[in-house]
Amino acid sequence: NVLLEVKGLTAVVADSGKEILRGVDLVIRVGEVHAIMGKNGSGKSTLSKVLVGHPDYEVTGGTAMFKGENLFEKVPEERSHAGLFLSFQSPIEVPGVSNMDFLRMACNARRTALGLPELGPLEFYGFLSPKLAALNMDPSFLDRNVNEGFSGGEKKRNEILQLAVLEADLAILDEIDSGLDVDALRDVASAVNGLRRPGNALLMITHYQRLLDYIKPTYVHIMEAGQIIKTGDTSLASQLEAGGYKAIRDLAG
Ligand code: ADP
Ligand code: MG
Ligand code: MG
Repeated sequence: NVLLEVKGLTAVVADSGKEILRGVDLVIRVGEVHAIMGKNGSGKSTLSKVLVGHPDYEVTGGTAMFKGENLFEKVPEERSHAGLFLSFQSPIEVPGVSNMDFLRMACNARRTALGLPELGPLEFYGFLSPKLAALNMDPSFLDRNVNEGFSGGEKKRNEILQLAVLEADLAILDEIDSGLDVDALRDVASAVNGLRRPGNALLMITHYQRLLDYIKPTYVHIMEAGQIIKTGDTSLASQLEAGGYKAIRDLAG
């Protein structure tokens, strides 16, 4: 029941050769929630982008198996169709494409990859409506262009809606808590919790313990200088909050 197994992963910035990931090891099993914490610049976003195949980075060593298959042999689109999802720290705007069309396209691409028939507009609306309701989102939201003029909270909610539509097996949420006030954070977190299934897993990247009060992780990892230097349970996040990264570094020895 291992979903993702990363071993000794090293990666560089493609155009400069600057090394960012320096040997990352990570195992995520179905049903688990993992949190990666770490200072700005420690390589958290790079790890998530390398896993989904972002072209800015080049893998120079190590392996990543997702559902028993080599992730690095797949193009980004295939990784997504295989059930890997990454939310964006700064979601992009897609002018001229309605949210509804965008979500239906994404959903049908995944269904096609799974050998399922595509959903027509009406069927898709039936599939989407309860998910929208669960997220406390107004249906008028679907007529707007992707992320255009969305508030920070709306963008995050939209990402979770995308995740709900794609029914990913492993969702990586990179700073899904950034820029959210407490109420929006609670909404987004409860929506994320509502998407948890025995068969899927979650990897959350965050600076703050606050998010982990709402979405309880099975494991907390601390990343520093391109490596996971310590793994523990939620008490690690509390230690971090109390003593800062130095306390964790001392613990890691
Ligand atoms: P985090 O998400 O933990 O804040 P990042 O993964 O974004 O860290 O960045 C890790 C380090 O790699 C930083 O020093 C950052 O400046 C550098 N880096 C990341 N992506 C690039 C890039 N495309 N080009 C140059 N440097 C990069
Ligand atoms: Mg950062
Ligand atoms: Mg980051």
